Amino acid sequence: MKLILIGCPGAGKGTQAKRLSKHFDIAHISTGDLLREQIELKTELGKKITDIMDEGQLVPDEIVSRILSERLKRDDCKKGYILDGYPRNLSQAEGLFEIIGDVDKVILIEVNEDIIIERMSGRRDCPKCGQMYHTKHNPPKVPDVCDECGSTLIQRKDDTEETVKHRLDIYHGATLPIINYYDKKGLLVRVSGNGDIDEITSDLVKILEEA
Ligand code: AMP
Repeated sequence: MKLILIGCPGAGKGTQAKRLSKHFDIAHISTGDLLREQIELKTELGKKITDIMDEGQLVPDEIVSRILSERLKRDDCKKGYILDGYPRNLSQAEGLFEIIGDVDKVILIEVNEDIIIERMSGRRDCPKCGQMYHTKHNPPKVPDVCDECGSTLIQRKDDTEETVKHRLDIYHGATLPIINYYDKKGLLVRVSGNGDIDEITSDLVKILEEA
């Protein structure tokens, strides 16, 4: 199964992608995570993209596409995968089609934007195992400590209110056109991301099992 998950920043793509990846036993590929890994490893590429990412800008297409192509060659992708955060503009969507052809489904998680800022400012990530939390909606058992591995949770630099607003502008300008692109291909499924995290996961699983 090959899936794409689209949604504005804070729509819950990462959380749902992790759950779907476990449920369907397919790889979860987050281009944001792959890029953050380069920054953590302090590679030449990582140094080049640090400021771009902290400001909430899109990393140039050729860099992200190269990293994604490499990732898709790994063995765990043979069973299928869920792309989280890619494609983010029309040129990436067309480039992806050149590499893998059509995916099985493109899921758009739709969320009212007035709740996005509240959601994102409470978001906390585990820098070690990638587990995600929210201080109010999905808190860890012990504040700021990862339930899975015990590491101290962090807030991403690009989750500040100003940067989130900028990322939403980019989403409207660059990412929304791909919704049309996939809709025309008959691949798009819209899911409300406003409700409870578990309910959204069950909706997604149901849609995909029926597909
Ligand atoms: P995410 O974790 O998906 O919210 O992505 C975090 C940041 O990584 C974005 O704000 C961009 O700076 C960068 N990024 C992730 N995916 C892409 C992509 N497909 N194209 C360009 N930049 C990306």
